[in-house]
Amino acid sequence: MKRYELFIDGESRKADGGEWFPTDNPYLGTPWAEIAKGTAQDVDDAVRTAHRALHTGPWAELTASARGALLRRLGDTIIAHSRHLAEVEVRDNGKLFTEMYGQIAYVPEWFHYYGGLADKIEGTVPPLDKKGYFAYTKKEPVGVVAVITPWNSPLLLLAWKIAPALAAGCTVVVKPSEFTSASTLELARLFHEAGLPPGVFNVVTGSGQDAGAALVEHPLVRKVSFTGSDATGRHINQAAARDFKHVSLELGGKSPNIVFADADLEAAAGGAVSGIFAATGQTCIAGSRLLVQQNAHDEVVDRLLDLAGTARMGDPMDENTQVGPITTPAQYAKVLDYIDIAQQEGARLALGGKAADRGGWFVEPTVFTGVRNSMRIAQEEVFGPVLSVIPFKDEDEAVELANDSRYGLGAGVWTGDIGRAFRMADRIRSGTVWINTYRAVSYLAPFGGFKDSGLGRENGIAAITSYLEDKTVWINTGAPTGNPFVLR
Ligand code: NAD
Repeated sequence: MKRYELFIDGESRKADGGEWFPTDNPYLGTPWAEIAKGTAQDVDDAVRTAHRALHTGPWAELTASARGALLRRLGDTIIAHSRHLAEVEVRDNGKLFTEMYGQIAYVPEWFHYYGGLADKIEGTVPPLDKKGYFAYTKKEPVGVVAVITPWNSPLLLLAWKIAPALAAGCTVVVKPSEFTSASTLELARLFHEAGLPPGVFNVVTGSGQDAGAALVEHPLVRKVSFTGSDATGRHINQAAARDFKHVSLELGGKSPNIVFADADLEAAAGGAVSGIFAATGQTCIAGSRLLVQQNAHDEVVDRLLDLAGTARMGDPMDENTQVGPITTPAQYAKVLDYIDIAQQEGARLALGGKAADRGGWFVEPTVFTGVRNSMRIAQEEVFGPVLSVIPFKDEDEAVELANDSRYGLGAGVWTGDIGRAFRMADRIRSGTVWINTYRAVSYLAPFGGFKDSGLGRENGIAAITSYLEDKTVWINTGAPTGNPFVLR
């Protein structure tokens, strides 16, 4: 079986304790590789390496333009290896090859874009209210960044973090999900190939409780950039607060996809299906609550069931497959549990509702109708192919239901009325609102959550500032001297 070692200071190495853990192929339900089980000692080595690379040696010496050029070269290197990287991700997380290949082919844009921004980070010269002084501000890298990623889109979500972090001049230590570590370690080799100096990008694989917690708590880490569940995010936020570390948290969601009767109902039904069944529902922005205006309810549900009922489950490498497996056995059990909970709560099972009998961790695309927004199935993140359909009367009720959630990551609005589209976009409390579409994201557009869906934004120009500190420098050019005991 293939073995993947840690990546520290530009080299692959075994974990300190010499232990390994298996990583599974969710389509087959069997292990395909072993991953080094990193310890707190490995984390310490990696963070010290990153800290050294931040302050001394080739990375610290680079001009911002040269740093940007290296990141753009890394983007080009990823393009050359994108098919292989996508295959590794599919083997590890079971998502469709067509989706993962598209994602990996998109990843270089983050390195090209933020590489281009590296030498456009500028300070200011503030106008002063005091005579005899000159002041300027500069932006400096925040320091060593701990990057912690989930299993659903390992390299894409990694790129959202490391491209701006490295462009800002930081160095990073990554702890990928224990379920999907392989592609991050494959990417590490490409750093070397693209000519980035050792120590800039380090990877310590292992569990969240051991390697992840040690990384968040390490005193030389200055920022934690995390994507994952809100439960882990809360824990990380508290741990990071002890040393006043900066944090960015991209967490979960229970996003409403809202269909008004005046919408193009065929397009809306398609948007509802891709909102929840793409990636087998394992996306933070899954449109897991379908709010449908009462007078269009039956038509939308019929269209939805027609579409979702014909979904082809199967081998994620086969381009005809539409629904792949659930990534982990624990997640598979959790999805099936929620299907039971929904039925106990009185929701009506309109489609699916079972594990598919085909080996691997497959759950049928599942639709519940007659869901009330107060039910657990409408309030808690399932992270699987389970849709709750909730009827509403008018715009006000749609807004009330949409916002009646502790999450606020994404929302879709389907309507033929432009005024209503703007009103809904204003009134929904979420980081993204899609009008007559669902799921679009870009390296150019900020992404993140309101409420329990997170803190901070990724993507777009502003994301780079979250990896920078402002410094103000004052120069005395002839300030009048006065009483030294009085602050002025
Ligand atoms: P998770 O929270 O279980 O794990 C995420 C990462 O945190 C893993 O690498 C894990 O090892 C690590 N971790 C766990 N405990 C830790 C600890 N105590 N200290 C430090 N690290 C720790 O999440 P998951 O199951 O891998 O991913 C699914 C979740 O991610 C869902 O809730 C989903 O909504 C969310 N997600 C959010 C976004 C977004 O951009 N908002 C994107 C994708 C996924």
